Amino acid sequence: MTISTNLARINEQIRVAAEKAGRDPASVRLVAVSKTRPTADIRAAFQSGQTVFGENYIQELVPKLDEVREAVQWHVIGHLQSNKVKYIAGQVALIHSVDRISLAEEIDRQWGKLGKVCDILIQVNISGEASKSGTTEAEAVQLVRACALLQHIRVRGLMTMPPFFDDPEAARPCFAGLRRLSETIAAERIAGVDMEELSMGMSGDFEAAIQEGATLVRIGTAIFGER
Ligand SMILES: *Cc1c(COP(=O)(O)O)cnc(C)c1O
Repeated sequence: MTISTNLARINEQIRVAAEKAGRDPASVRLVAVSKTRPTADIRAAFQSGQTVFGENYIQELVPKLDEVREAVQWHVIGHLQSNKVKYIAGQVALIHSVDRISLAEEIDRQWGKLGKVCDILIQVNISGEASKSGTTEAEAVQLVRACALLQHIRVRGLMTMPPFFDDPEAARPCFAGLRRLSETIAAERIAGVDMEELSMGMSGDFEAAIQEGATLVRIGTAIFGER
């Protein structure tokens, strides 16, 4: 299977899942997760029309920022250490994985130096599983409120990464839980915060995530093959 064939198949599956859920397929964006993949794979995907790419590791992303000259949009989706933020300041369109105020403050500081604003999502550990990063559901509203006071970040929604399940249906309660939390936070009408984005769903479970309201699906393996 080539990257272009895989992308065509995934985009079709996204369209079908959205329509089944009574949603506009254009309301779901595909983030191609290119971690561990060479830049040649990113270019191949870009040639096939894919523009948004997600990376987990800053030490891997930084050289790619330089090597990939095409007009791609980069998203950070993995755990982010505060001391790495300076290397990507102003160069990524969205950070999905903000789970603590100290990280938000560092993003604010680095983007502030450039006079820019960084769009972020709050990562929530919906399942409560100990090994997963993300703020707790109970603390999420507080974190959003604290982020809303920072001038150089803008909270655009929530992200979650459920524990690994063999059965894609098993993740559905986590997706539904994130959507409900997003609605709860939206109802608070916090100034400067919108809850437009729900980043959830990966290769094995993106169709369930779309049915539960995902606007960003993060797919690696189904596009680029096994890592
Ligand atoms: C690796 C990764 C993905 C993609 O997972 P696949 O199963 O390869 O689609 C999505 N989100 C995050 C946070 C990841 O680390």
